[in-house]
Amino acid sequence: MGQFAVIGLGRFGSAASLELMRMGHSVLGVDTDGKLVDKYADQLTHAVIADVTDHAALEELGLDNYDVVLVAIGEEFQASLLCVVHLKSLGVQTIWVKASSHAQHLILSKLGVARIIHPEEEMGIRVAQTLSYPMVNDYISIGNGEFVVEIDVSERLEGVPLHQVLKGQPDTIHVLIVKRKTQITVHPANDFILHTKDILVLLGQLDTLKTIAPKLA
Ligand code: ATP
Repeated sequence: MGQFAVIGLGRFGSAASLELMRMGHSVLGVDTDGKLVDKYADQLTHAVIADVTDHAALEELGLDNYDVVLVAIGEEFQASLLCVVHLKSLGVQTIWVKASSHAQHLILSKLGVARIIHPEEEMGIRVAQTLSYPMVNDYISIGNGEFVVEIDVSERLEGVPLHQVLKGQPDTIHVLIVKRKTQITVHPANDFILHTKDILVLLGQLDTLKTIAPKLA
């Protein structure tokens, strides 16, 4: 279980906080707005009213003990920036920040922020990719053009062995797991027989995955 602090409980910060809770993590939510803090108090591990531009207030929260602090202050970039500077001085190791422009990105990267998030752009790219490959449920990039993707097996492939789907790409695509209801098969053999509604989790280069994904639809 991870320990996360989310600063700013607007739409982005609250959605991230609630999803982290759903995934079993511990979340401290922080906002200057008492109404928002009240709203999420019962749904988060802790929710606190504090102005994070105030160094002393931030210090009291003991944020250096958290795995990641996510700064989700939207419009007020000056507050976001000051918060990052304070978090750095308090020894917080991993800081993620929501940004909304190239200039903000540049400044935050100079401050050594671990991850700068551009929600609208990132969501736009995800939506476009999902539209192009509707059979892909979810994916993550692990760098160097390698992706892990989760793909639904269609009715058309009922009874088809895995090697038939991977024809031509057996060495470049790794089938990590097949999920069948609650049953999970790790590294299935080439002659593994697919069933409709199986879920495949594949690892490979994006270009190769793009050629495989439509064969599963
Ligand atoms: P979203 O799209 O996520 O709603 P937004 O662009 O509307 O984001 P804001 O509403 O500007 O973002 O900020 C997000 C939250 O950050 C707000 O709930 C706001 O009260 C909180 N916030 C702003 N400044 C501070 C601060 N200095 N300390 C703590 N919280 C702050």
